[in-house]
Amino acid sequence: MSKIWDAVIIGGGAAGLFCAGVAGRLGKKVLVLDHAEVLGEKIRISGGGRCNFTNIHSNPTHFLSLNPHFVKSALARYPANEFIKLVSSYGIQYHEKHQGQLFCDDSAKHIIEMLLAECSKGKVQIRYPVSVQSIAQKGSEWHIQTSQGEERTIAVVMATGGLPVPAIGASAFSLDIAKQFNLNVIEPRPALVPLSFTADTFGNLSDLAGLSVPVRIASGSKGFRYGACRFNEDLLLTHKGLSGPAVLQASSYWTEGEPIHVDWLGAVERPGGFNCDELFNNEDNRLKLTELILASVLPQRLAKAFAEQKNLLGRKWAEVSKKDRQALKELLTNWSVKPAGTLGWKKAEVMLGGVDTKELDGQTMMTRKHPGLFFIGECVDVTGHLGGHNFQWAWASGFVCAQAL
Ligand SMILES: Cc1cc2nc3c(=O)[nH]c(=O)nc-3n(C[C@H](O)[C@H](O)[C@H](O)COP(=O)(O)OP(=O)(O)OC[C@H]3O[C@@H](n4cnc5c(N)ncnc54)[C@H](O)[C@@H]3O)c2cc1C
Repeated sequence: MSKIWDAVIIGGGAAGLFCAGVAGRLGKKVLVLDHAEVLGEKIRISGGGRCNFTNIHSNPTHFLSLNPHFVKSALARYPANEFIKLVSSYGIQYHEKHQGQLFCDDSAKHIIEMLLAECSKGKVQIRYPVSVQSIAQKGSEWHIQTSQGEERTIAVVMATGGLPVPAIGASAFSLDIAKQFNLNVIEPRPALVPLSFTADTFGNLSDLAGLSVPVRIASGSKGFRYGACRFNEDLLLTHKGLSGPAVLQASSYWTEGEPIHVDWLGAVERPGGFNCDELFNNEDNRLKLTELILASVLPQRLAKAFAEQKNLLGRKWAEVSKKDRQALKELLTNWSVKPAGTLGWKKAEVMLGGVDTKELDGQTMMTRKHPGLFFIGECVDVTGHLGGHNFQWAWASGFVCAQAL
């Protein structure tokens, strides 16, 4: 008779390795199976190689899910400060970059090493590369057929992540298994992804590639399945369209055919906020050129491009009609533009959609229909904002699952 595992975890990424380490240290016999040649590749490339491993402000408002309440239990039981304590206990140096985002000082590799060390302390077995061919429920056991033989287990944890970056081993395996067991899957879509534009919608702005501007951005609507958003972040103009944190955040709330709204002056830092009329009605500006007035609040290249777009380049402000001033104000404060699409799975950081949370118990991540079958991490219909929230979800969902194995 072959050994029976307490849990076989399929996918040795952030959620899978963390869950394995916690369960192993609780005394469970755990096996991790991964099809990749190298473990933790997404962690390695995350945060520009420094892994934005959590966010000190992470709370349920930072997540998109058809059921916004679903994340509450896991995040409350495993909040960001628990993971920070673990990171600190390994002597990993980190710093806060922006709005609570914590990054390793040195390299994301330290997080991978820490997860593997926790697995080792929990006597977790990790096998890779191995392919999982089938999963079947037989009485109270699960039988997993792999390229290296069959495994028997009391619990199966699906942790194969989302579809972004197929080049490093992303697959739809968890979603396929969900469907095999008649679980509803919310249609997956690329999120935290740059947006593309056609030449006519984008105009001369594509000449400004490389420019980064702090803006206020709005996307989505009450009718959209995940609602609407508003962020103050940096927008990056690129050769292909728009990117940078502002656009990545907005992309998660964007649907095909809908516009996004950019207030180019919305993030200008002024006590009491910035008022466009103050700039336009300032008597001192009457004899200045339009592009120079705009350059007092925008990068020079952008100021020039906007003046050009409204045929106001080289025109003194006193000569600009009321109608043109109004059009310029609209362009500056409510630039409404329809993206042509996203740059897709290759460039997305995360997946929107996944296994419907209605199918899962939020206290344990176990499926309601099939005791012993769990889903954790990105394959679940929970998607974090940019800024360390997606890893926080991987840790929190992995933690509550481990307690239930
Ligand atoms: C470029 C980039 C940068 C990012 N930066 C950040 C960041 O700084 N902060 C943040 O919070 N989030 C970041 N993310 C998102 C974050 O990496 C993911 O949300 C997180 O890794 C999800 O954890 P997971 O365990 O669910 O999936 P993953 O970490 O993707 O792990 C899934 C594992 O399953 C394995 N697998 C897949 N299919 C199979 C299969 N069929 N059989 C066996 N094994 C399989 C994979 O090889 C992989 O090891 C970034 C993502 C990208 C793409």
